[in-house]
Amino acid sequence: MSFECQFCKKSFKREKTLAVHLCEQKRRWINRDEKYVRLGFLAYNRFYEITQGATKQKTYEHFTKSNYYTGFTRFGKHTLEINAIDPERFIDFVITNSIALDKWCSDAVYETYIRELNKKETAERAIERGILLMQQWSRENDRPYMYSLGKLVGLVLSIGSNQVALVHGSFLIVIVAVHLLHH
Ligand SMILES: [Zn+2]
Repeated sequence: MSFECQFCKKSFKREKTLAVHLCEQKRRWINRDEKYVRLGFLAYNRFYEITQGATKQKTYEHFTKSNYYTGFTRFGKHTLEINAIDPERFIDFVITNSIALDKWCSDAVYETYIRELNKKETAERAIERGILLMQQWSRENDRPYMYSLGKLVGLVLSIGSNQVALVHGSFLIVIVAVHLLHH
């Protein structure tokens, strides 16, 4: 009688030996619920969704047999180690920007991601700030809020065609809001 490893098909005379046997495929199966593996697996599925329009999720078994298993799980480990902001967004960032898998763990890639994140959040925060100032102006001047909101929307529309202008426009909104406060 012999005992066979279901992952690598190697056979052993004793069940005890099989129990302590560890091959690469078995190791990948044992690690399936580790956080870094789950992140790698998530990225693997997003990769197929985004680049190939896959609608069906790949199975974990498919992932363990992939040549890219190590690359994706290394990336999972990396996102945990650096405590990446919004890991799912970071995953989509590296994929949509067509960055090669072996570059995903580089500092430069994460720095670029953070810069883009800041750019977007600055514009959003600035608009929010602008609206708050308008509301304050309406209260203090007893004028309808819609009046100042109309001015803000007009401004956003006029600069909205240009993303860079939108970012720099954040300062304009504040300037306009301050201007309105004094009239
Ligand atoms: Zn085995």
